[in-house]
Amino acid sequence: MNTFKETPYWWEEAEPQAADNGSPPEKADIVVVGGGFAGMGAAIPLARAGRDVVVLERDRPGDGASSRNGGITSGNLRVSFSKLVAKFGMEKAKAFYAEGNEARDDLKAFIENEKVDCDYELVGRFTGAMNAESLENMKREIDLLNRQVGIDAKIIERSEQSDEIGTELYHGGVSRSDIGGVHPGKMHRGMRKVAEKSGVKIFGGTGVTDISRVGGQFKVTTPKGVIMASHVIVATNGYTDAGLPWLRRRLVPVISEMIATQPLSANLMKTLMPKRQMHGEAREVGHYYRPSPDGTRILLGGRRLSSDSAVARERLRQGLVDIFPELSETQLSHHWFGFVAFPMDQLPKLTIHDGVVYATGFCGSGVVWARWMGQKAAMVVLGSEDGASAFDGPAFRAIPFYNGKPWFLPVMMGWYKLKDQMSRRK
Ligand SMILES: Cc1cc2nc3c(=O)[nH]c(=O)nc-3n(C[C@H](O)[C@H](O)[C@H](O)COP(=O)(O)OP(=O)(O)OC[C@H]3O[C@@H](n4cnc5c(N)ncnc54)[C@H](O)[C@@H]3O)c2cc1C
Repeated sequence: MNTFKETPYWWEEAEPQAADNGSPPEKADIVVVGGGFAGMGAAIPLARAGRDVVVLERDRPGDGASSRNGGITSGNLRVSFSKLVAKFGMEKAKAFYAEGNEARDDLKAFIENEKVDCDYELVGRFTGAMNAESLENMKREIDLLNRQVGIDAKIIERSEQSDEIGTELYHGGVSRSDIGGVHPGKMHRGMRKVAEKSGVKIFGGTGVTDISRVGGQFKVTTPKGVIMASHVIVATNGYTDAGLPWLRRRLVPVISEMIATQPLSANLMKTLMPKRQMHGEAREVGHYYRPSPDGTRILLGGRRLSSDSAVARERLRQGLVDIFPELSETQLSHHWFGFVAFPMDQLPKLTIHDGVVYATGFCGSGVVWARWMGQKAAMVVLGSEDGASAFDGPAFRAIPFYNGKPWFLPVMMGWYKLKDQMSRRK
């Protein structure tokens, strides 16, 4: 019988640790709500600027998506460049994508400068096309991106594909040299260490139940007491709860989940993933996958389309076998999930509402974006011009007829699934 763990593979080496620091203080310069990549990304520069910073985290810092993800440093935007041009015009579309370039480079610099031990490798990413039409669309998009934003992307024809990946499934695809991978558990652990060393005070098991304004201050309420602060940054993304009702009405939490295989032979790994790089698929609810940092197993993820965990796991396993039929008998070692968050327009958000700064809405691509937007939020609080972002413009709209419980998700996911199935038949 297949036995597997229902905790992230990453936790074998870097499980989030509790932050049992007692009750938070009665006041602070800045309260950061949420202790993932975004929360740490905000707290570090603030503490380094000499501010008294308190991070309040409902569970253990890192327990959210930040220690559960695929670790792919895509800095991806869910909306294609051409759609952004159509909606916002060329200059604004360029600004969105150019900020992705900046954010990817900044993550690399942060990891190197702070010596964050997180298996960061700039190995590249190959995204497979599901049919010939999809490859043609990719060609048009990549041509635009290369010309307008200077992204280093290359079309790989089906005949050249075996250099990228050992599968017959795709009809060619796109290779990107500016994307790599990290061990997300170790990255979060490293960020937490940097934050604590910089003087950030972190309180786990301290969920925020209310934020209100009293005079020129913010009153932040938790079951462990009330904190008065001059500024509040909210970085709760897909885990946003009823304590943050304004944000909850603007974000749809979606389950993203992953499986890890048992170790595979070095020869097989070399055949399947000759470049040891990151992978994606050009479809609505496609898979993302990668080798483990030690190169011994494959980790594959996707959106959850079933409320039954066994069905969901089997769908991922079948997805893996569709790509690599050699793995039909391979056992799994782990299956886990986490929540990502989508705003209505599917663009990351840096927004101020009623004085509170929100860094959120990374649409499943927060390894690069969450730390970056957290850092931008910190710059906003410090009044620095570095707080400017292309993402502080588009309105952060409430989702109609929605109070935080996404009743419409099964319908949407069913529609995406159908669309993918139809496009595979082409
Ligand atoms: C399975 C999976 C795979 C993914 N793969 C990738 C990938 O390969 N590449 C990529 O770029 N992105 C990926 N992502 C997305 C990425 O992990 C997230 O976008 C990113 O981690 C978000 O970071 P965050 O700090 O904003 O939120 P989180 O890390 O989710 O942290 C939010 C925190 O807020 C806390 N919180 C919530 N409410 C309160 C409250 N009221 N008071 C106090 N604390 C509260 C939560 O407990 C949580 O710890 C993946 C996500 C998942 C789940």
